[in-house]
Parts: sequence; structure tokens; C-alpha cells
Amino acid sequence: MNKLAFCTIKELRRLLDTQEVSRQEVVDYFLGQAEKHKNINATIEVFSKDSILKETQESGILSGIPGYIKDNIVQKGRNASCASKMLQNFNSPYDATATSRLKEAGALLLGRANMDEFAMGSSGETSAYGVAKNPWNTECVAGGSSSGSIASVAAGMACWALGSETGGSVRLPAALCGLVGFKPTYGAISRYGLIAYGSSLDQIGITARTVYDTALVFSAIAGNDPHDSSTLSRGMYDYTKNLDGSLKKGLRIGVIKEALNGQGLHPEIKKATEDALKKYEELGATLVPLSMKTLEYGAACYFIVSRAEAASNLARFDGVRYGTRTKDAKNLIDMYEKTRQELFGQEVKARILIGNYVLSVGHADEFYTNAQKIRAAIRQEFMEVFKEVDVVALPTHSVPAFKIGEFDNDKLAMDLQDYFTAPMNLAGIPAISIPVGQTEDKKPIGMQLAGPHCSEELLFQVAHAYEQVTSWHTLHPEI
Ligand code: GLN
Repeated sequence: MNKLAFCTIKELRRLLDTQEVSRQEVVDYFLGQAEKHKNINATIEVFSKDSILKETQESGILSGIPGYIKDNIVQKGRNASCASKMLQNFNSPYDATATSRLKEAGALLLGRANMDEFAMGSSGETSAYGVAKNPWNTECVAGGSSSGSIASVAAGMACWALGSETGGSVRLPAALCGLVGFKPTYGAISRYGLIAYGSSLDQIGITARTVYDTALVFSAIAGNDPHDSSTLSRGMYDYTKNLDGSLKKGLRIGVIKEALNGQGLHPEIKKATEDALKKYEELGATLVPLSMKTLEYGAACYFIVSRAEAASNLARFDGVRYGTRTKDAKNLIDMYEKTRQELFGQEVKARILIGNYVLSVGHADEFYTNAQKIRAAIRQEFMEVFKEVDVVALPTHSVPAFKIGEFDNDKLAMDLQDYFTAPMNLAGIPAISIPVGQTEDKKPIGMQLAGPHCSEELLFQVAHAYEQVTSWHTLHPEI
């Protein structure tokens, strides 16, 4: 049974199909794993065996395949807390579209994954339920904000997990934990039932051990949804069918010079990225060095847009309609104020303040309107770049997994964790982070590939081809 812990979806599918293991055994085994790795703190709730089996179809492309869902994606009849005291008792009356599609595909939904509060953070440390630890080194963060989703898969507690991406929250932790992390085109996966943070940026993302597994989960949940008018018109599609390990003939990979030569990039990450690019050359790709002037504005622009949208989205949590309410309020205004004061964490409150500030009369032009212009410029520059190359490659992160508490007094360093990932969210384009190495002290390193809107199939092919000739994705922590 031990071989199940780090097995891929593809391998588990075979074991289930040949009846070497049953769905029941899979649930038993992985619930045991959750118990065994409680110290990682990857989950907010693990469901009971009966309720897991009852909720899902017996057949389907993910039948019998276990995973976790980030606690900002709702599951009917279960709580969805966003790792916030504000929603600690919020019970969802409906399934998110991604959740219902997973159930129809037969997936085993094991529980609710820990996360940064309302998905605001890069380390998992803002969770009201405590930080999720990095399975490779439990003194370090798993990364955020989809900390528990990624930590659960990395620890061998599941084969896949859903996270959410507003500025890099799946790619970043996936890179820090040695997994594949994927953010699709804006609108590719329905946001119905994803509790909003920054609505123009938010997308559900996927983590798994391999590109094939990621593409398979994506195939199960992507596609138009009448419940979300911002979804693309594309129907359901099998994104795994052309994963044959080959690279498109004449593939051009843009290498963003600023990303590799900027100060602040950890030397071992730089080296691993360069090595991965060499591999691509060996595979027949042409590397095209190029410059992206807007790259350095991504994190600042993201900072403003995300706070502005968060301030608006979180206005609805006032003690009236959702979740919890303060116990001792003198009147209605007092109730609003105390509820928000008591039940939101520090990071969330700081962001609401900043968001309202950048939108306020007298400041909106300087901050919000300017950020929107920069956002348009970032998108435009990507579009120009994709006239020259098929995809671009760049690091996912600038530093390997850091110690818990390391950036407590350095907010800027924390916000800069989004440096390489937020530009894609701002542009609405898809990107995938894949494991490409390890530091000397055995911390995983990720590299990302990004392509034009709706290029998911190409991105999967390019990422998959690398995986076929390397073994980084097969490494797992000794736990
Ligand atoms: N670290 C970024 C933030 O805190 C990204 C979060 C996310 O993608 N949800 O906003």
C-alpha cells in the first residue's frame, strides 16, 4: 500500500482499473495519510469515509482519485471558511461548478485545504488555522496562498488539489514544494462558488505531481458555465489527448532577459532555470532572448488592483448575511464595525484599508487608474511578445522555501514573492510551473512557462515534453 502515497493519478487509475486496489481502500489509505501527517497542518477539515464515498459518482475520468479542495471553493453541505474566523461557521448551500464537475467525474473529495486568509498571502502564514508546513522541511513555509492544497499533495496525502490564483497562489507554493502548479486562462474554469478576492484576476488553479495529471483534472472542470458569465465559450475538452512527449516542430521559447538577470534571483534558481532551458534546446526548441519592459511593474500594479478589488469584495462580510457576528454590539453600525474588527485578521484588514485608499477620491487617479493603465500595458506587451515566440519561460520564484516567520518584519519581501507570477494574472494568460531542480539543501525549484490566451494545450505539451526527459517531478520528501 505504501506505494500509493506519491503515486500519480495515471498510476492510481491503473491500480484501480486492474482491481489491485478498491475505492474503499484508497479512501482508507489516504485518510490514514491525513492522520499521519497532521503536523503539516495542510487541512482545515478531513471528511469521514462514508460521506466521501456517498458524495461522488462511481465512474468517470477521476473515479477513485483523491484530492483536496482549497477552503475558498465551496462544497455543498460543508463549511467554507477561507481560513478566516469571519466564515468559520459558514456552511455552503451549493457546490462550486468545479466541485460538482469533480463529483461527476468520480473524484474523491477528501476535505478542505488550509490557505492564507481569503487567499491573501504568499506563505500560508495568514491562515486563522495556523501555517501549513513545507513537507520538504517543516521549518519552512509551503508557500501561499494555496498552502494546504499544495502541502497535502506534496506530503503524499492526495494525488491532486484545487487551489486558487489571484497573483500566483498555485504556481508559487507548487514551486516551493516540487509540484506542478497551473493557472489557466481567465475564464477557462468557472468561478461560480469560488469566494471572490480580486474578481478580475481570480481563477481556480490545479496542482498535481505531473503535467498529465494536471491536464486531466483541468479536463474534468474546465469549460463554459452558464453560472459564470465570464467563462469562455469553449466546451469540455480532453487536454491529455495530445500529450505524446514531443515538442511542436520549430517551437520558439522566449527567454525574458530581465527575469534571469535581475538582482534578487537566488543563484541556484537561476542555474536551474538555465539548465532547464538547455534541456529545451536539446529537445529541439529555439530559445529567443527577449526583453519585457513591463515585468518590473507587475508586482506593484498587482498590489493596487488586488487590494482595490478585495476591499469591494470583502464589503459583504458584515455580520448580517454570512458567517459569524460579534456578540456584543450596541447598534447596527457598532455591529458592522466590531464584526469586521474582531473577525478579520491583520493582513485582510490592512488590505481593505489600502484598497479603499487607492480607490478614494483624490487618490484614485494616482493609484487605481494608473495601475489599470499599467495593467493594459503588461497585457499589450505579452501580446507583442507572443507574435515572436510561442511561449515564454521564466522563474516562478526568486527564493526557495523560506523559514516560517522569516518575513514577519519585511512586508515588502513578502509582497515581492508575486514578482514573477502576478503579470500573468494581470494579463489573463495561462501559465504552468514545473519542478526543474533542487537547491543544495534539498529545497525544490520551479520554472514557469506562459503562453497566449487559451494556449493551455500547447503549454501542457511543452511542460510534458520536459518531464519525459527529466526526473525532478519524481522526487518527494522522505516522510
Ligand atoms: N501573494 C499574492 C497575494 O497575497 C497572491 C495571492 C493569490 O494568488 N491568491 O495577493
